[in-house]
Amino acid sequence: TIKLAARVQAVKPSATLAITARAKELRAEGKDVIGLGAGEPDFDTPDHIKAAAIEAIQNGFTKYTAVDGTTELKRAIIDKFRRENGLDFGQDQILVSCGGKQSFFNLAQALLDPGDEVVIPAPFWVSYPDMALLAGGLPVLIHAGADQAFKITPAQLKGAINDKTRLVVINSPSNPTGMAYSRAELEALGEVLREHPRVVIATDDMYEHIRWSDEPFVNILNACPDLAPRTLVLNGVSKAYSMTGWRIGYAGGPAEIIKAMKKVQSQSTSNPTSISQVAAQAALEGPQDCIAIMLKSFKERHDLVVERLNQIPGIDCIPTDGTFYVFPKVQGLIDKLDGIKNDLELAEYLIEKAGVALVPGSAFGLAGHVRISIATSRENLEQALDRIAKAVA
Ligand code: PLP
Repeated sequence: TIKLAARVQAVKPSATLAITARAKELRAEGKDVIGLGAGEPDFDTPDHIKAAAIEAIQNGFTKYTAVDGTTELKRAIIDKFRRENGLDFGQDQILVSCGGKQSFFNLAQALLDPGDEVVIPAPFWVSYPDMALLAGGLPVLIHAGADQAFKITPAQLKGAINDKTRLVVINSPSNPTGMAYSRAELEALGEVLREHPRVVIATDDMYEHIRWSDEPFVNILNACPDLAPRTLVLNGVSKAYSMTGWRIGYAGGPAEIIKAMKKVQSQSTSNPTSISQVAAQAALEGPQDCIAIMLKSFKERHDLVVERLNQIPGIDCIPTDGTFYVFPKVQGLIDKLDGIKNDLELAEYLIEKAGVALVPGSAFGLAGHVRISIATSRENLEQALDRIAKAVA
């Protein structure tokens, strides 16, 4: 056998991608499996975005670009930050990457030395801890259950930070919980962060636009502008414009950190795809009504799924603030079903017995829960809920 690097042995492949693969496998065997594992909108990329990309190909815009993205796309991102978030960045404060995933990867590589700690609220997006580990860092988890709406408290944050802490991650609205922090909650977290000037903050705003609260979107930088010299804002076009396959994410932040992240990217992937950059620019500069159409549909499905889940004895699902996930507590089901000891076994049981694929909460750092993606048709959702109700009755 070949000896692999310790840092690779320390990480797991993405659990969400594994569930999707398992569902595909069962379907290939002829089984009827409804997939509720998807981490992407079920809508097509809007036509005006596709058209911009086709034109880019026809115009021969098919070569290397600047590592950090074209000036035009970076300008569109700067305008977006100003228009939608009230944040001001210069060209040297923006880095365009191959998806939001690479933005965080670059940040971890640029920032972390062996043993540096990364504070991550749990439940978390599956990639944060593993990308911290790949960079030699140590994930430090703060547990936030349904009783606190899956949001960390200032006291918890205070307790998790020490001299080794380098980075704190905030993801709101959150994958997998769908919950978002209010301005007051972010101000309170900011107060703790203010006491630790060495700590860098990453706010992952990927689901900014998939939100149904009446309040305008806020991130920690809106709540605490004085944290700007050490805060990175991570965002992208993947979820808002249904562009997951195009691989465009971006970061805005202190020039010094952005420059270091760019250096990492220059020695790994170089620029994100030239064609996708043109498409992303069209998404940010073009009509925004495509977002409202998706949002309306996600909200209707959310309402349906939350209501139906709560009708199943043993399941508790709190309504979310946004995203296309719900994160019900299923401990009652686990306790009730013979031979099922945890959420991993429950997910296995549901895929085999009900033909419904969903992701166990343990993958996101919270056992006794599952993540259900509502990024599928209403018919699929209704049928999946019927099947779950029947399989656990
Ligand atoms: N951040 C969060 C919270 C996510 O859920 C995702 C995707 O699942 C990403 C970032 C990365 O998105 P992408 O790399 O597809 O742009």
